[in-house]
Amino acid sequence: MAQMKQKLEAPVKRFSFYPIVEREFCKGCVLCVELCPVDALDMTDDYNKLGYHVAYLKDICTGCLICEKTCPELAIKVTKKPL
Ligand code: SF4
Ligand code: SF4
Repeated sequence: MAQMKQKLEAPVKRFSFYPIVEREFCKGCVLCVELCPVDALDMTDDYNKLGYHVAYLKDICTGCLICEKTCPELAIKVTKKPL
């Protein structure tokens, strides 16, 4: 019975995720914005020291790591924190 109850309960979300963008490493290629499956990223209106718009988190991140793995400049590190 305890096993059956466990199966029916929704999984408990214990963490929230957020990508940290190293502002001065970003070259504004927009790859992360286009590949994010939940449309959580966007580009800033302002520029970094290199003269590029920079990716930033605008909505809820699911922690899929696609942006971190595909950024050609290694400018994104996805981090999780306990809720
Ligand atoms: S993929 Fe990397 S370099 Fe390109 S916009 Fe995103 S953070 Fe910037
Ligand atoms: S980890 Fe996934 S969901 Fe979160 S911002 Fe990156 S691509 Fe989007």
